[in-house]
Amino acid sequence: MDNIYYEGLTGEIITPCNEQYEEARQVWNRSIQKFPNIIVYCSNKSDVVNAISWAQEKCMQIRIRTGGHNYEGYSVGNKVIVIDISRMNKLKLDKKRNVLKIEGGVVNSQIYELLGNEGYPFPSGTCPTVGAAGLTLGGGWGLSCRYFGLTCDSLLSLEIIDYTGNIIIANENNNSDLFWACRGAGGGNFGVVVSMTFRLPSKVAKVSLIEFYCLNATQEMMNEFMDIWQNWLIDLDERITLVSRLHNTEEEGKEIYGRGIFYGLPEEANEILKPFRYIEGMKIYIEYLTFTQAIEDIEGSYPDFEKFKSTGRFVYRNYNSDEINNITDIVQSRPEGSIISGLSLYALGGKVKDVNKDETAFYYRNAKYIMLIQSVWEDSRYAKDNINWVKHNFKYIKSVTKGSYVNFPYSDLKCYDNEYYGKNVCRLKEINEKYDPYNVFKFPQSIN
Ligand SMILES: Cc1cc2nc3c(=O)[nH]c(=O)nc-3n(C[C@H](O)[C@H](O)[C@H](O)COP(=O)(O)OP(=O)(O)OC[C@H]3O[C@@H](n4cnc5c(N)ncnc54)[C@H](O)[C@@H]3O)c2cc1C
Repeated sequence: MDNIYYEGLTGEIITPCNEQYEEARQVWNRSIQKFPNIIVYCSNKSDVVNAISWAQEKCMQIRIRTGGHNYEGYSVGNKVIVIDISRMNKLKLDKKRNVLKIEGGVVNSQIYELLGNEGYPFPSGTCPTVGAAGLTLGGGWGLSCRYFGLTCDSLLSLEIIDYTGNIIIANENNNSDLFWACRGAGGGNFGVVVSMTFRLPSKVAKVSLIEFYCLNATQEMMNEFMDIWQNWLIDLDERITLVSRLHNTEEEGKEIYGRGIFYGLPEEANEILKPFRYIEGMKIYIEYLTFTQAIEDIEGSYPDFEKFKSTGRFVYRNYNSDEINNITDIVQSRPEGSIISGLSLYALGGKVKDVNKDETAFYYRNAKYIMLIQSVWEDSRYAKDNINWVKHNFKYIKSVTKGSYVNFPYSDLKCYDNEYYGKNVCRLKEINEKYDPYNVFKFPQSIN
């Protein structure tokens, strides 16, 4: 390694000359293959400051990476320096104040493990390896969001290192504009978030973990499900949050599947879920577990990585029967080589919509749910078929939805900033101009 060239960089430096490079350049979506010049694993704030300064000296583009779960791989790139903060992963629980402080590199499972042992729930996503900062910066949907809000709604304060190497504290009282922006539009845009502090919900003894499925589902059954789902969400008890999937899998064929958490007793959950029982063959299972047990159960269902194309849009209204049929039509076929293709519906409402759409950068507060389209494959020869399947069907989904969820991004979006941030986009551009005037933190869909 040419030591003079790398002078000023600290932390563990991985370049294409290192044998760890092949593994180090990978992200969760293995269909994304990028070749950075350098990956620097930072262990502390000075390593981050040095990397930001070094990159500017060398005119090298920066990517910030924590858990590496961005759908489009925006935390890596060709010929860039990846500032990887996954080793900055300490957590501190203040039980007196009911506050949790995490370093920027902490992943979901670490939070759940620490808090679960103390009896606290937490409103984050359930994929164990997703970076908590990455998720929160985009808003953060989780199976507790209708009850506790998005993950960013629990954020009290954050520390972010800007392009000059300054450590900025952002909260309601200091740099409140940046704090506003980092609750829905912060991922990779304004600097490197090195810590976050969250308010914790009250402790809970047990929750009801819900799982339901309907195997060999016909299109009629899917239509019926969609109709029940969209009406069910109106005036729904905010203690329940579900994700439902209409899937077509290589192994099982077409199915309806769902899971969720209810902050209450199984009998009540059973009553709330009653409308779905009218679907022939629908099986609903409810277990009364500690929050940790429920989360661990869900966490176990995620693979270590996948090859996929996926993106999510916000649904604001009920669909008529023709529209429902057009939507479920998508699931009736799979592209060649796909192991699973379909739609997922992420319930919103409840506490998510109690926050105004201009109170944080997360604009789509009044949506009923997020509709995600996805195709997963294993053999790279079929990548194009799967990507084209998503691309083709996305056209219809886009025509009946409003805006895209930045945590479920899509590289093909035109006017992506309007799609992700709605009418909050002008304010975000001003904030970006203030905190990152030279666009040092830039990626294919960054705020410019
Ligand atoms: C399997 C899977 C499950 C998911 N489940 C959910 C879910 O339930 N709910 C949900 O809302 N989302 C979910 N997501 C989306 C996920 O929240 C986003 O992709 C999130 O941005 C990932 O963060 P990361 O650190 O893991 O990814 P990375 O790829 O490392 O980062 C994602 C983006 O955030 C930026 N970023 C990361 N860390 C920092 C930081 N410390 N400072 C500044 N910028 C940073 C990166 O530059 C990049 O633009 C899921 C994604 C996958 C692949």
